[in-house]
Amino acid sequence: MAQRCSTAIKGTHEASTSLTILNRRHTRNEDQDDDLTDKDEPERLRKRGRKSPEIASSSTRKAVDWKTDNRSAESKKKKQRIPEQFRKVRGKLGMLERLAKDVPLDVVIEIFCYLDPGDLIRLARTSKDLRGILMSKTWESVWRIARENVQDLPPLPPDLNEPQYARLLYESYCHVCLKGNCDIILWLFRMRCCKKCGVETLPPYEDLINSQPMEYRHRGILPSEWLPGNSSYHNHRVGNTKIAEQFKAEYTALQTLEDRRNWISGKTQCFRELARHGRLCEEWHETQLEKRANEVDNVRQKRLEAILERLGEIGWREEAEHMLNKFKDHKLVKQPKKLTDHSWNGIKVELVKMLSNHKENRLRNEQRYPGSSLESWSILAG
Ligand SMILES: [Zn+2]
Repeated sequence: MAQRCSTAIKGTHEASTSLTILNRRHTRNEDQDDDLTDKDEPERLRKRGRKSPEIASSSTRKAVDWKTDNRSAESKKKKQRIPEQFRKVRGKLGMLERLAKDVPLDVVIEIFCYLDPGDLIRLARTSKDLRGILMSKTWESVWRIARENVQDLPPLPPDLNEPQYARLLYESYCHVCLKGNCDIILWLFRMRCCKKCGVETLPPYEDLINSQPMEYRHRGILPSEWLPGNSSYHNHRVGNTKIAEQFKAEYTALQTLEDRRNWISGKTQCFRELARHGRLCEEWHETQLEKRANEVDNVRQKRLEAILERLGEIGWREEAEHMLNKFKDHKLVKQPKKLTDHSWNGIKVELVKMLSNHKENRLRNEQRYPGSSLESWSILAG
């Protein structure tokens, strides 16, 4: 790692002698060759980082001050506990942004080399300056090292640059409606797309293929993807209009039969590579989703145990265990968040009220049906 970082530092120094430290405003090279920015990236997402109060520039900070004034007394108290130097930052990214402004470039690069591309893409959104720097082509080696930190991640495909690949892998918003939590990645189209947007905007593959020149219509060069339906039988095979139109334009622009044959042969090879890489990416993504689901389950289980322990201290654990299946699915229990003193105080009253009602109903039921045991009631309640 140390060697790879020094290579990155050397490369970055050689390529960008004017870039000395990050706390000086970065003069961004607008030259296309020195820019890794994805031109298709929606403006709303580019602005996302700049809108956050903790990362806003001094001019925009004034605009968000009213929000600070309106915060509750509780949040003001919390703010007072935070040391002055960290009040405008939040979480790992806030710390890193501050670090990037306060320490020499060599050290920053060294630290960035230990991150993954998802961290870099989020960092690039935290401020205009960081974005300008990280999206500069001179920082490509840092992106490469960050990508190589990720276990089993397939290599960078030839049609994407590092930030574009990172966005596809780590930014879970639908590229059509921009809503978050979109886990459907259409690898061959280089896009994320929720089911609804996919059905509404991507044409059936059969329709699209029939609009292509007969010479390559059935040569399997036009990428397609499957959108999940209600069952695997109902999955939708869709195409991408932009890719289809581009293929058609390229093919029809060729004048000779030989050029057209070569074009088909080249596209066939490209499609094989694209499909192979897509399968590897899908496997990697499935593993990531599985890992994330396990982590969430783990956090939920720990929260449940912590809540039961706290209930034990106030005499309500036994009742919660009588209805454990139902209890662990309660909206205040099931959250994938660590239980803190503060959060426990926020949920305690409601949980005790719910358990109290349950106990009342249970005892009434036991009186009405004397033969029924606590266990059978627990099963019924669960
Ligand atoms: Zn969508």
